[in-house]
Amino acid sequence: MKVNYKKFSTGGYEFKDFKGNPINKVIDMEIPQTLTIPLKQGFGGEVSVIVKPGEYVKAGQIIGIDKNAISSPVHSSINGIVEEIKTIKHLNKEVNAVVIKSDGTKEWQPLEGHSREWNKLSTEQIQKLLYMSGVTSLDKSGIPTIFKSSVISPEQVENVIVYGIGTEPFNISLSVLLQDERKSQFVTGLKILKKVMSNAKFYLAVNKKNSKLIQELNNLLFDVDWIELYALPPKYPLELDEVLIPTILGKKYPYGYLAANIGVIALSMQTVTQVYDAVVQGKPLIERTVALGGTGWKENVHMKVRVGTSIEDITSLYLKEHESYRLILNSMLTNKSLTSKSLPMDRTSSVLIALKENKEREVFSWLRAGKNKDSYSNAFLCSLMKVSNKSCDTNIHGEYRSCISCGFCEDVCPVDIIPHLIQKYVKKNMLDEEVIDYGIFNCIGCNLCSYVCTSKIDVAKDIREGQEKLTKDECGRDTIVEPYFDLIGLKEFKNL
Ligand code: SF4
Ligand code: SF4
Repeated sequence: MKVNYKKFSTGGYEFKDFKGNPINKVIDMEIPQTLTIPLKQGFGGEVSVIVKPGEYVKAGQIIGIDKNAISSPVHSSINGIVEEIKTIKHLNKEVNAVVIKSDGTKEWQPLEGHSREWNKLSTEQIQKLLYMSGVTSLDKSGIPTIFKSSVISPEQVENVIVYGIGTEPFNISLSVLLQDERKSQFVTGLKILKKVMSNAKFYLAVNKKNSKLIQELNNLLFDVDWIELYALPPKYPLELDEVLIPTILGKKYPYGYLAANIGVIALSMQTVTQVYDAVVQGKPLIERTVALGGTGWKENVHMKVRVGTSIEDITSLYLKEHESYRLILNSMLTNKSLTSKSLPMDRTSSVLIALKENKEREVFSWLRAGKNKDSYSNAFLCSLMKVSNKSCDTNIHGEYRSCISCGFCEDVCPVDIIPHLIQKYVKKNMLDEEVIDYGIFNCIGCNLCSYVCTSKIDVAKDIREGQEKLTKDECGRDTIVEPYFDLIGLKEFKNL
């Protein structure tokens, strides 16, 4: 198979050599005494609870389902007794959750109909296994099946992109995810997905620096003619659908909509391994591999955690003591700091980051050498020399300053707009046609402009505020982002 080497032409930034990157070690976390399982996890709406307090449930048993709305079933991830059903704040939304007290056993109930001979299963049987396992709720558009698991049907999928590029400062390790026999299981997962989305062409996007993995996958896929392998630079935000799809397919992305609305499904490599687990081993989505990133951990291991395990269960065992740490889930660039440690890990969790909370400001920080800092500009010595142990901290490094029109935000912006210009329009409340023409709605919220800003301006936040004002009709306009070509699954998307 030919390996396609592609560049990432517009903007982007490579986060290199940060201290606290997850190492290739996996720990099976003990099952906590109590778990809280949100009834909305991943793609789709909240499901209706079908168990009652006092009821005994098995790990893998469905505890919430709604076949009439776009969603996927939710399972108990442990064996035990339902203690209560309560409303919790989960990822900035109020959702119902089921609290289950463990009986201490580890076994799980396999899905009915799974088979090692998956090829002999009908497409409908495979789709049922995917839906009943909950795997269909993974990633940004879900996986289409005969059930209401995505906004389009499997026949409408034209392209499937599977990615494992690792573009954030802290990433789950592909060597861990695809260890030993997991590589061939991953390839089987791809073949299962091809059976479901048979009209689709498949693309595999891998970090070009991981040449060993590229070679191994190439060898395993030698007889497959429906997949293309792409080697891409680990530049942030290449793993966001809005950037990945134009880069690989050369297709325009409809900002504000789902990839599924243009017939594309983008899936992470972990999702594909869980497709294998569901169909071949009958394993429901009750567990995730989560990497511990950042310098706040005693060891930067990967952990297998049951869904519903609280962040506190993890920090009490692995967080360093005597210091205060900021915790962030999944993405350091796009997610906010966690305000509560009671938040449960769900089926979308992949990286838990801990950064030392540094309360003091470094005055005139830009004058300092900063050998271990990361800087886009030449203000820090680190930009001129090779540094292999950069540290992420929460210090704002200097005073806030006015925009100096350095243009760095423009250099890194992956969607080719002028962030500092749009930000100035928003700050002056000039929210009119002009700012729309400048592409305010093309901003995908990657936050890279804020990261590189020499003056510490939160450019992305200001742009987001401008978008919100415009969409909330605070400027006397109707809604703004109109699709510029026919989108599929639009009615379903609007009902989400
Ligand atoms: S947040 Fe928006 S404006 Fe800033 S770099 Fe990303 S896409 Fe561009
Ligand atoms: S990076 Fe900051 S200072 Fe430089 S042009 Fe953009 S907003 Fe202005």
